[in-house]
Amino acid sequence: MDVLSNIQERLAFISTDPIDWKSLVISFSWSVWAFESYLLIRQYPLYSKEAPPPQLAAHFTPEVFAKSQRYGRDKARFSIVSGFFSQTLDWMLIQYGAQAWAWEAAGKLLHAVGYTGSLEIPQSIFFATILTLMSAIPNLPFSAYNNFVLEEKHGFNKMTPLLFITDTLKGWFIGFVIGAPFLAGFLWIVRWAGDRFIPWLMGFMVSFQMIMVVLYPLVIQPLFNKLSPLPQDELRTRIEALASRLSFPLKHLYVIDGSKRSAHSNAYFYGLPWSKHIVIYDTLIKKTKPEEIEAVLAHELGHWHYSHPSKLLVISQLHLWAIFSVFPPFLRSAPLLRSFGFPADVTANPPILVAFLLFQMVLTPVEAVVGMLMNAVSRRFEWEADRFALELGENDVNQAAGMPDMGERLGNALVGLHVENLSTVWVDKLYSTYHHSHPTLTERLKAMEDYRVRKAKKNPKKEL
Ligand SMILES: [Zn+2]
Repeated sequence: MDVLSNIQERLAFISTDPIDWKSLVISFSWSVWAFESYLLIRQYPLYSKEAPPPQLAAHFTPEVFAKSQRYGRDKARFSIVSGFFSQTLDWMLIQYGAQAWAWEAAGKLLHAVGYTGSLEIPQSIFFATILTLMSAIPNLPFSAYNNFVLEEKHGFNKMTPLLFITDTLKGWFIGFVIGAPFLAGFLWIVRWAGDRFIPWLMGFMVSFQMIMVVLYPLVIQPLFNKLSPLPQDELRTRIEALASRLSFPLKHLYVIDGSKRSAHSNAYFYGLPWSKHIVIYDTLIKKTKPEEIEAVLAHELGHWHYSHPSKLLVISQLHLWAIFSVFPPFLRSAPLLRSFGFPADVTANPPILVAFLLFQMVLTPVEAVVGMLMNAVSRRFEWEADRFALELGENDVNQAAGMPDMGERLGNALVGLHVENLSTVWVDKLYSTYHHSHPTLTERLKAMEDYRVRKAKKNPKKEL
């Protein structure tokens, strides 16, 4: 509590000083945009390289490499244009007072439907809906272009225009059905708990996340994809053996029809601590050998072994705590709302959601740095999971049967995924430090090679 009141005392000036928050927010958001564009400019020339890095040369035919370079270049161009567009849109929404307008419109809408009860929560829900649509609708053509022109050109798009439309509408609908009660709970807790809202709000958010982990596969995912049990075959036997060897609480093993939308492939696990589910993309199964998928899952179970999901949850809770502890001075800040053009009757008693939204806009550069740090943590976890798979391979029964070791199989699978997804192989260091949650393919293969060399040195009698 002491730390909290200390922080808030130091920030008390925010509630009173007439700072020009709007100009600050505008300059923050353009700065982040400029930095991200700078990273793209650094990355862009790498798409013109004519050969892959030497470590990967053996894995890429010249045609595949040229294809991946063209795909990377097209994606980079697209993100420069779409990024500039959405940045300009965000800027215009701020510049011309969209937030104040949306708040007033939400109030009028409530009156129009004859609502006379307490206003803040329903008005906030309408306000959030209006603002979300104001930025989502103009971005739709870009999303359509991305699917039907860019991904299509490179052979990844499997979506029909009808599926695109129903996906979008379903997404908005679900966002509203989940978002509205979440927002109501959030606002109610802050009002109810007053200055002591932080622990309550954090408890609420953790419970909400838990509920979503259970509900998502039951209610939401089936609206978009079909999950079917993995058939009884070699792959299933392998994965079950791996899970039982590690005492992984495997409840269900699914194949997901990712190919309905895209040819990109993947695998993941989820669930509560005592009941986990593994999901494999049909696209991955089609293109990868069972023993290589097993190696991919050995990596995934490494994440589980080291409790990476729980660690990420703890980090995100600390992050939330930090945000919430700085929020109260902004919540009381009339100058903040005034600078965004809110009328006097609103600034006199700032609505929680309005203050929180503006506060988040002020935080944009901080959040960019936090995102970069989170990527660093995530990359570290990826190293650990790779390492786990390699160590697991040391006492592997398959090796006796003449099968390549786990490292080689994982390496093959990663290369295969890379080739199939036409992922970029040349990556600018700063670009990947900022954007990437995974180490690059070259880095991962090199680490696996180093591991093999170290092992061979320790165990000189064993043949490689
Ligand atoms: Zn991973």
